[in-house]
Amino acid sequence: MNAVKLITRDIGKALTVQTKVIDYMTDFLLERGFCWLLPVMLSSITDPLWPDPAASKMIAPEIEAYGAKLKLMHSMILHKQFAIAMGLERIFVLSPNIRLEERDRDDGRHAYEFTQLDFEMAHASMEDAMGLIEELIVGLFRELRGPVWETFERELPRVKRPFRRFTLEEVIEEFGGEDEASRELEEPFWITDIPREFYDREVDGRWRNYDLYLPEGYGEVSSGGEREWEYEKILGKLREAGLSEEAFMPYLEVAKAGLLKPSAGAGIGVERLVRYIVGAGHIAEVQPFPRVPGIPAVI
Ligand code: AMP
Ligand code: MG
Repeated sequence: MNAVKLITRDIGKALTVQTKVIDYMTDFLLERGFCWLLPVMLSSITDPLWPDPAASKMIAPEIEAYGAKLKLMHSMILHKQFAIAMGLERIFVLSPNIRLEERDRDDGRHAYEFTQLDFEMAHASMEDAMGLIEELIVGLFRELRGPVWETFERELPRVKRPFRRFTLEEVIEEFGGEDEASRELEEPFWITDIPREFYDREVDGRWRNYDLYLPEGYGEVSSGGEREWEYEKILGKLREAGLSEEAFMPYLEVAKAGLLKPSAGAGIGVERLVRYIVGAGHIAEVQPFPRVPGIPAVI
């Protein structure tokens, strides 16, 4: 698609929905006492996104500045933990993420630049975070059902809490995989206990983390977890994952000083949520400036 085609596309309706989604979600968190942080875009450290079965192995691009190297942010997970360590109790941020993934297949839900609504709560459990997201989704769908029907003739499900829960192992056994479950089930559902990055908390071999999946094959829309805060455990998991300690030095320093705190949170992909709500076939249809892996941006 060239620049003229991009600019003459009809994207207004999807962006009106996106505006409502962001308005609803930010109000929802502000009403519950969350502090709204501004995003970090360059840092000495970022999310390794590894090992994560849902991500391809990626290296965050770096720029040279002031005699040092700074990475473009994969996500703000580590900074969320730092913010909680600073004494903030409940925080969120609309965080722009750059992930230069190479995908064998375009599944319609990956962009190399996207925004997540990323929140974190000190001393919270996975139940607290999952409950909060369920409440948010139920309210959001209720609010948008009418306008979405009028504009897109699309019916959002009347969702009720609690959403169904499966462990990753159960999903694989019952449906064959996450995407198969997303195609078969008719309401949002949870997948828990997913082996992944060192910052997600593991207790007795079980991962206290959770992903929210959308129906109709739209797939994962949110990932979250309780977090590790103990230095020895973090160091052990980092080493096990084969990650360089050097690359995470400031994080390890803060952990070693005993400053990290127990917390739980999640990130909700804004464009993925909007794509589902409006029923778009591809995430690029809801991005005014599409960022499709493998295709350099036109504008
Ligand atoms: P993660 O913690 O990596 O799962 O990211 C949090 C959320 O951001 C995911 O659940 C998605 O909704 C969204 N997200 C992650 N990667 C992408 C991507 N490449 N394109 C669009 N949205 C994404
Ligand atoms: Mg995820």
